[in-house]
Amino acid sequence: MSAWLGDLVYTGGAFEPGLAMMADERGVITGFSRDKEDLKNAHRLPGRAILPGLVNVHSHTFQRVIRGRTEHRTSASRDTFWTWRESMYHAANAMSPDALYHAARMAFMEMLLSGITAVGEFHYVHQDLNVARAILRAGQELGLRVTLLRTAYVRAGWKKDPNPGQARFLTPGVDRFLSDTDELIAEGAHLGLAPHSVRAVPLDYIRTVAAYARSRHLPLHMHVSEQPAEVEASICEYGRRPVELLHDNGILDERFTAVHAIHITGEEAQLLGGSTVCACPTSERNLGDGAVPADKLFEAGARICFGSDSNVQIDILEDARELEYHLRMNKLERAVLAPDTSREGLARRLFQSATESGACSLSSPGGSLEPGKPADFFTIDLNDCSVAGADRESLLGHVVFSLERTAVRDVCVAGELVIRDGRHPFEDEIIREFGDVQRNLWQ
Ligand SMILES: [Zn+2]
Repeated sequence: MSAWLGDLVYTGGAFEPGLAMMADERGVITGFSRDKEDLKNAHRLPGRAILPGLVNVHSHTFQRVIRGRTEHRTSASRDTFWTWRESMYHAANAMSPDALYHAARMAFMEMLLSGITAVGEFHYVHQDLNVARAILRAGQELGLRVTLLRTAYVRAGWKKDPNPGQARFLTPGVDRFLSDTDELIAEGAHLGLAPHSVRAVPLDYIRTVAAYARSRHLPLHMHVSEQPAEVEASICEYGRRPVELLHDNGILDERFTAVHAIHITGEEAQLLGGSTVCACPTSERNLGDGAVPADKLFEAGARICFGSDSNVQIDILEDARELEYHLRMNKLERAVLAPDTSREGLARRLFQSATESGACSLSSPGGSLEPGKPADFFTIDLNDCSVAGADRESLLGHVVFSLERTAVRDVCVAGELVIRDGRHPFEDEIIREFGDVQRNLWQ
């Protein structure tokens, strides 16, 4: 039995003062209390507020190694996503399973330090199942919840020659892909399935994977319409845009998450209304992808969640505010995603996307602090410069629109404190080992 008492705790959609949060020995929240004895026995966190852990729905941890190394123009007349992709392929092919493990540890630690307690790792650098196992082990060792989204990848694209840069991603036979997945499930891994995209996986294969995911109640994720070229290729091959194609084939349901969904029409936004869309604005702005039309998607009833994707920056709250800011810049308006005229409506909606909607997309148990949910939370220092001066009513607005990582003090997953006072116990070792990986990779 554990109990925590901050100055404030975010539960039921509001910050409550003087409330102890209790959890059992499995790390599951049993309730909240203002009883004198409970308050006295709780672990006191003075000057701090307790918030539900953030959920990072879409990450490729290995791409952490190319951070800061692709910010230059290549000889291509117009530098785009597709030139960035060649650098990414170089890293993916040069990394040993051990290097992939250390990159995962580095990225996962940075996630924890920014208040993330669960991640969906969209895993496509396969080699063999031991890479998947190593990534899951990295999560366990650091104390982060990992949903491994096993990714299928078959081809460079319709009528495109094989690209040697993609050799390591390939899962050519669907039977083998699914029997490997069975093996990981039998080992107790928390999994989801992820046909890479309409470009990289033929329709029959997508349908088979989707049927498998549905029969086992697993999340199904896909990259959808990140780039205009991907949409054009889908129209050439199938006569349909990617979202239309997935809808025609019964793939879109409440367990489906479309990652990006940037280049979609108003009708396609409607078709995604019963599903989830994962926006990755920090990565999308870095790659010049475009802005997710979240206004249309919310209107259609879709859930929105966030991912750090290429991990050029790991900050889910920055993703939340950036989603809104991209639309402000496009529309020359403010508060585009506000659901109503209440003062806290917009911050609450974006925070819910960063927590509950993310957990829902990954079928992960966290997302909010309520009895029966795991004690997955982070605390913030209320005197940190980035939020100082906030009152109870405006604190969530401060958190969503200006919180910096310096404010994150403790992070707890399933009742275990994995970050204390802004430090992970393995921090020095993880950074040193990651430095070795980088030296070997780039020298
Ligand atoms: Zn991605």
